[in-house]
Amino acid sequence: MSDRQPILELDHLSVGYQTSAGIVNAVNDVNLTIYKEEIVGLIGESGSGKSTMAYAIMRLLKGDALITNGTIRVMGKDVYAMNLKELRAFRWAQMAMVFQSAMSALNPVMTVQTQMVDTILAHKKGMTRLQAIERANQLLDIVRIDRKAMQSYPHELSGGMRQRVVIAIAIALNPGFVIMDEPTTALDVVVQRSILDQIKEIQKQEKFAVLFISHDFSLVAEMASRVAIMYAGRIIEMTPSQTLQLGERHHPYTEGLLRAIPHLSADNITIEGIPGSPPNLVNLPRGCAFHPRCPVAVDVCKDQRPKAIPSGNGHVECHLFEGEQEVQHG
Ligand code: SF4
Repeated sequence: MSDRQPILELDHLSVGYQTSAGIVNAVNDVNLTIYKEEIVGLIGESGSGKSTMAYAIMRLLKGDALITNGTIRVMGKDVYAMNLKELRAFRWAQMAMVFQSAMSALNPVMTVQTQMVDTILAHKKGMTRLQAIERANQLLDIVRIDRKAMQSYPHELSGGMRQRVVIAIAIALNPGFVIMDEPTTALDVVVQRSILDQIKEIQKQEKFAVLFISHDFSLVAEMASRVAIMYAGRIIEMTPSQTLQLGERHHPYTEGLLRAIPHLSADNITIEGIPGSPPNLVNLPRGCAFHPRCPVAVDVCKDQRPKAIPSGNGHVECHLFEGEQEVQHG
C-alpha cells in the first residue's frame, strides 16, 4: 500500500482524560494509516476508545479530554498545528463526520434546506444562495431523498431520512476523509441495509476515505477492506477483512468477537461471547490488558505488554505471535 496516498495518519496517538487519579488514556499509542478511497473499519466493545479517537481526529474533544502524545495528520495536514481559522476552513471541507444520532447532529428548528445551504455557503465563499440550493438538491438526489424534504424540519422526517440528510451534509463539500461513527445503529435492519448500500455506492462515486466505526463485526467486515480491532485504547489487531472468519488465526480477542457473531446452521443458532467485561481504564491490568479474560493467556501475559507483530497484511499485539519481526505502523 506504500504507493497509495495516505489520507489519515495517526502516529503514536494517545488521548487522555484528566481525572482526580491523574491522566487516564482512553486511546493509547495508536498508529493507523488510511489510504485514499479506502474504507477501514474500527471495532471494539463500548469504552474501548473508538469514539474518543474519532473526536480527537476531528479536533472535537470536549471537557477534560486532551491529546497526551503523538500526531494526527489528515490529507497531509497536522490537525493540531492549525489555528482556529484554518481548522474552521478545513473541518467539513476536507474531513467530515457522520454522528451516531442524526437527531442531535441536526438543528431541530431549522429546515433541511437551511441547514444544508448554510453549511455549503460557510465554506464556498464565491457561491450564490441559488447555487448552494442547487447543490443541496443534488445531494438529496445522491442520498435518494425526495427534494420536497428540503422544506421539512428534522422531526418531520423518519429516522432513516434524517440519517441520510446527515450523510448528505457530511459529503456536501466533497471531503477527502469521512468518519462514520455507528451511522446506522439507531435504525431498523431494513433501513440500515439500504443506508449501508448507499454509503458504499456514494463512497465509490465521491472517492473519499472512510473510518467506519461500529461494534457490529459482521457489518464492519462487509463495509471495510481492512479492520482495526480496539481493546482498552489500543489497536490490538489490524487485518484485511477477508481474513475475518472463524478458523483463521487471529488475536484471541478478535477470535472471541468472531465467536460472538450468531452462527446459523440448519437446526440451531449459537451465540458465544467473551467472558468478563472490558477493563477499567483507571486501573488497567499489568501486561496484556486482555489477560484476565483471555482463554489462552500464559505467564508472560501478566507482566509484559505484547508488542505489535506483523501478521498477514496487518499486525497483532499478542505474545503468542512473537518470534516474528516487530512493526511500528498498522
Ligand atoms: Fe492472550 Fe497473552 Fe495474547 Fe494477551 S498476549 S491476547 S493474554 S495470549
